Amino acid sequence: MVPVARPPLRNGRVAVDGGRIAWVGAPGEPGEPAGEVQDLGAGVLLPGLVNAHCHLELSGLAGAIPPGSGFSAWVTALVAARAAAAPESLDAAATAAIEGLAGTGTVAIGDVSNALAHLPALGRSSVDAIVFYEQIGWDPARADAIADAARDRVAALRPSLPANVEVRLAAHAPHSVSAPLFRRLVAERLGALHLAESPDESAFLIDGDGDWGAFLGSRVGTVAWTPPRQSPVAYVDSLGVLAPGLLAAHCVHVDAADRRRLAQSGTAVAVCPRSNRTIGVGLPPVEELRAAGVRLALGTDSLASSPSLDLAEEMAALQRELPRLEPAFIVHMATAGGARALGRPQLGTLEPGRRAALAFAPADASLTSPEAFLTSGEARVRRVDA
Ligand SMILES: [Zn+2]
Repeated sequence: MVPVARPPLRNGRVAVDGGRIAWVGAPGEPGEPAGEVQDLGAGVLLPGLVNAHCHLELSGLAGAIPPGSGFSAWVTALVAARAAAAPESLDAAATAAIEGLAGTGTVAIGDVSNALAHLPALGRSSVDAIVFYEQIGWDPARADAIADAARDRVAALRPSLPANVEVRLAAHAPHSVSAPLFRRLVAERLGALHLAESPDESAFLIDGDGDWGAFLGSRVGTVAWTPPRQSPVAYVDSLGVLAPGLLAAHCVHVDAADRRRLAQSGTAVAVCPRSNRTIGVGLPPVEELRAAGVRLALGTDSLASSPSLDLAEEMAALQRELPRLEPAFIVHMATAGGARALGRPQLGTLEPGRRAALAFAPADASLTSPEAFLTSGEARVRRVDA
């Protein structure tokens, strides 16, 4: 067993009462309640996985965009592919992706959405879904209209939301959201954004031009704008965006000062290394972010830029990219780190009082390091009903 909150236990057991964890221990440890025992066989029992960043509604675009062409070209292709896809096929693919989550051991998901069309499908699933309703708006003149509409839509949805679904506001990114719109979204409790994902983003905020400037011009025409000449992290910090409870996706291009800002503000960061590789934007400096004290979580990003929504495969990719990173830390990112980043502290560890959202990966009984197994690429994690 990998409880995450404490070192692994051989032959570990979890006692569950009314959907909550009542006791965690090894046979012979005091306090184990009497009751029926469900033997899962040889393998690793762990907290259910938390996918801190994805876009379920883009699942129908799997394989639609050529990899490796860089960020601006990738977004250009994404926008075209999304516009060309039949809405019914996108809806069907999102539903199939949602139905597949339990089979990968996922119990909670940070899901970015523009359309909010898949909320009923999420409501039928077993996952905790924190849906980030993403706003984009480069023209400052439209900031109030966009923010008002977003706020009103979330307020209208709230009374009828399924119990396992929460909707929060999100901004797309510093290079697609105007400063006035950022300020309005902060006032409405901004929950997430994409941040420091690509060299194109950083270059655009320095010189206001480049591939991203050309893309924006083609989308929204000429908008008067003075580049802040700051890094993406420093720029959004100057707008009051960074805060405890905010989840920033990617943070690939962050220097030491940026990492300090992220840590000191209490901003959580969801890294998505497979997506970064696919798009060709570099890799997040996970060890440096960790050393700076940044709260770290793991996400798959969407099927448009990632081969799967399986967080065990994302853990394995991060381990391959950064072999020196301890497996236990990667498992922490994929469980407790994600749970905290999404404001679900009752998930992510096996501890008395927490929700009994468990996962299990069959393994050979002779396993010596369960955490290394979980990040090896060999683990097939699934949700366990308890
Ligand atoms: Zn994303």
